[in-house]
Amino acid sequence: MNVLPLKQGIIYGPVDSRRLERSLGVNLSPVTYKLCTFNCIYCHFGWTECLTRDVSEHIKDFPTKEDIFLAVRSALESIANLDYITFSGDGEPTLHPEFESIVEGIKKIRDELTPETPLAILSNSSMLKNESVKGALAQIDVKILKLDAGIEEIFQKMNKPAAGISLQDIIEALKKEKNFVTQTLFVKGNVDNTDEKNLAKWIKAIASISPKSVQIYSTDRPVPDAGIIKVGAKELKEIAHRTENETNVPVEVFSIERPIQADS
Ligand code: SF4
Repeated sequence: MNVLPLKQGIIYGPVDSRRLERSLGVNLSPVTYKLCTFNCIYCHFGWTECLTRDVSEHIKDFPTKEDIFLAVRSALESIANLDYITFSGDGEPTLHPEFESIVEGIKKIRDELTPETPLAILSNSSMLKNESVKGALAQIDVKILKLDAGIEEIFQKMNKPAAGISLQDIIEALKKEKNFVTQTLFVKGNVDNTDEKNLAKWIKAIASISPKSVQIYSTDRPVPDAGIIKVGAKELKEIAHRTENETNVPVEVFSIERPIQADS
C-alpha cells in the first residue's frame, strides 16, 4: 500500500475524522513537498522531505494569509453542519510563519459565519516554546497535542525530529500548557513504544503534563516504515486502563474509525 498524496490545497474535507467527527480541514503547509519538524515513521503522508523548524528559506512556499482567509470563508459559506474547523494537513500547522494572525483571522470568520463551530488543532507539540505559537494556541478551542514517547531514545526513533528538538523540552512545554488533550500513537516492530521501559516513563510524563484527556490509537493507514506493526485494540485498552489508574487522566482508545470505551 502506498502512503497518501499530499493535500492539494488549503481546504480539505469535511472528513469524517475518527477523533473530530465531521471536520473541515485547514492545511497551512506547502503543497508541493512535505515540510515538518518531525519525520514520524508512521506518517501516512510518507517521509518528510524538508525536516526543519526554521522555515525562513521556505516562506514563499506557504499559502498566503489572504488565500487562506478566502478559502476558509468560501468553505464556511457553502458547507453546513461542521463539528470542527481543524488546523491539520500534511505538516506541522504551527510552522506557518503567520500562524498567530491566521488563527486570529479564521476565528473572526468563524465567529461571523458559524460561531458554534469550535476551532481545533492537531499539533506535534514541537513549537510550543515559541511565544507567537503559544498566543495562537490560546485562541483555539480544542488543542490535541502529540506525545508519542516517554524516553528520548524512542522519541528520536519514532518521531525523528529536526535538530535541536528534544523530548524533555516538549514535556516541559506541555507542562505549561492548559486545557489540552494529548494524542499518542502506539506501534510495535522496528520501534516499540509499548515496551515497558518507554511505557512507564510515558505514563509518568502524562501525569506530569496533566492533560484533560489522552487519545491513544495505532496506525490504520499505509506508513512509510514497512517494519512497524499495528497495536491491537485489546492492548490499547490495557494501556488505557493502566494509564487511568496511575494518573487519574481519562484515556480514550480509538481504533479504525470509532472510539472504544476503555471498559468495553
Ligand atoms: S508530525 Fe504529523 S505530519 Fe509531521 S511527520 Fe509526524 S505524523 Fe507526519
